[in-house]
Amino acid sequence: AKKIGVLTSGGDAPGMNAGIRAVVRCAIAKGMEVVGVHHGYNGLINGDIEQMDVRSVSEILHRGGTMLYTARCLEFKEQAGILKGKETCEKMGIDGLVVIGGDGSFRGARDLSLAGIPTVGIPGTIDNDISCSDFSIGFDTALNTAVEAVDRLRDTSQSHDRCSVVEIMGHGAGHLTLDTGIACGACAIWVNEVDFDVDRDIIQKIKSTASNGKHHFIVAVGEGITDVHALAKEIETKTGVETRATVLGHIQRGGTPTARDRVLATKLGVHAVELLEKGIGNRVVVIKGNTVVDYDILEALQMKKGIDKKLFEDAKLINI
Ligand code: ATP
Repeated sequence: AKKIGVLTSGGDAPGMNAGIRAVVRCAIAKGMEVVGVHHGYNGLINGDIEQMDVRSVSEILHRGGTMLYTARCLEFKEQAGILKGKETCEKMGIDGLVVIGGDGSFRGARDLSLAGIPTVGIPGTIDNDISCSDFSIGFDTALNTAVEAVDRLRDTSQSHDRCSVVEIMGHGAGHLTLDTGIACGACAIWVNEVDFDVDRDIIQKIKSTASNGKHHFIVAVGEGITDVHALAKEIETKTGVETRATVLGHIQRGGTPTARDRVLATKLGVHAVELLEKGIGNRVVVIKGNTVVDYDILEALQMKKGIDKKLFEDAKLINI
């Protein structure tokens, strides 16, 4: 490729900026021109695109969010939207594109590749729900943010002999909830992927650990599973332990990316540019067993990644 574009799509994730920076700097070092596409696929449709140089990506390495803005773009799910995107690329001489986002964004990347613009996807989401990759950009930061928040809640729970129910993000996937629960010593971890019973796994657990001398409890619940405020009332009524619920929400999405996320984003960004340099598109660049690899997008979308069930069982053994 001679001129490539980079965009971020779907939910923002800390480390996306580090990915953008790697793509821009690597492409320029290899003698290519680079443009930044604003607001996800919307920018491709309406030509909201800026020319990038090495200094355009100064001072963003350590910032959360995305300097290119991100969006969900319904029009891009239709063939007409894809064609508009392709036309914009042709008009501007863009002959390769890097898309940082989740599974939905990869579908758009595949469609655009099939339409003739080689496009490469990079996993960026705090949910870590991208099956083809061990980790996605943003997960490590969100995990550390959630752990810090729950540690604060723990101080109050401990001081007042309370139970704290915490709702953690994940978009239906339990990775963030499970790891936060482990790192924070939650007495119960409730995620979609495992069989769970409130009476057995929370009420009885609290009663039995209370009889062992424990006075404060953390219950980690994945988003969208239940109403955590109603759950807190139920726990209080059935156990007699004063219980409060907290929804961490978007607190988990922003903030300074961890070193790990910056390094991951840099590795994936450079590999994506190396593919486009050779004119290769329709790939996703991911991390597998600490190695950067790339897969065909369709193949990648069909992969399955479950939750670490052993870790879930280990948590039950330890957090008593
Ligand atoms: P996250 O789940 O972290 O928000 P995501 O990339 O999965 O990330 P989506 O909202 O599913 O987020 O997708 C982002 C954008 O990708 C959509 O708004 C749309 O522009 C494009 N997209 C999604 N699905 C398709 C599809 N089937 N075909 C073409 N484009 C798609």
